[in-house]
Amino acid sequence: MGIATGSAAAQSCVPRDFLQEPLPTNPVLPLWKEAISLAYPNLTIQHGEEILIVHRGQTIVAESPTARPANVMIAAPTVGDQFSIPYPLSRNLDLRLAPFHDPGRARNARFLDLLYGASPGEVEPDLQMVNAGSVRFRVTRRHSVSCQLFSALADLNLGDDAIAPLFSEVGGGYNWRRITGTDRLSPHSYGIAFDVNASLGGYWRWTGATEGAVGAYQNNIPWQMVEALERRGFIWGGKWHHFDGMHFEYRPDLILYSRLIEGDGK
Ligand SMILES: [Zn+2]
Repeated sequence: MGIATGSAAAQSCVPRDFLQEPLPTNPVLPLWKEAISLAYPNLTIQHGEEILIVHRGQTIVAESPTARPANVMIAAPTVGDQFSIPYPLSRNLDLRLAPFHDPGRARNARFLDLLYGASPGEVEPDLQMVNAGSVRFRVTRRHSVSCQLFSALADLNLGDDAIAPLFSEVGGGYNWRRITGTDRLSPHSYGIAFDVNASLGGYWRWTGATEGAVGAYQNNIPWQMVEALERRGFIWGGKWHHFDGMHFEYRPDLILYSRLIEGDGK
């Protein structure tokens, strides 16, 4: 197992455990800003009249949550809106039955552009192939995404009968494209997402459901796998109302935010 290109990254890869690492006992408010700061230590956050995020010579304004309804907000969320539906760190799939309960599906494009690049020409130089046996996913090395994925796959027993079929045919990692049925960029465009076996994962559009009226989700993804990925900073689309059960996406700020609001500081 290793990272094919830039293998030095694999050897020096010290993964973070986002479910266990200690949190500040007196976190800075607002907690969504603290979560961003903890998740992406390479960012500079300036706190004045407004919150500014500086990275690689560029600056964006991180606007606060807007409290718009989720079905409106998802079209153009602010940086703060990304945290408006906390991502549940539990095995409870009942929360997703509420219409538009899609924790992590709201993404601020300028924030992700800043973190990972705003065009294929900016994203692609930082892509790395992460190999685990016959499994290969191309993801970005920025903000340690390839390191964290490499570590998650190393934590899993890919030969296990419950796990192996998910990787026997995979949907893939980096792919510069729009989300089906929308004009919004897919997180696959930034090299932060990967899909396992589509036929086992399930996708809400394939059920014939209309938006905001998606029913039950038949989960085929073992919880041990979901939790191994959450530990390394990847959220799972199976927890969304608009479920995308094959889909995992690097959003460690959401995982840390959920712990911060639960008062999980140690
Ligand atoms: Zn996906």
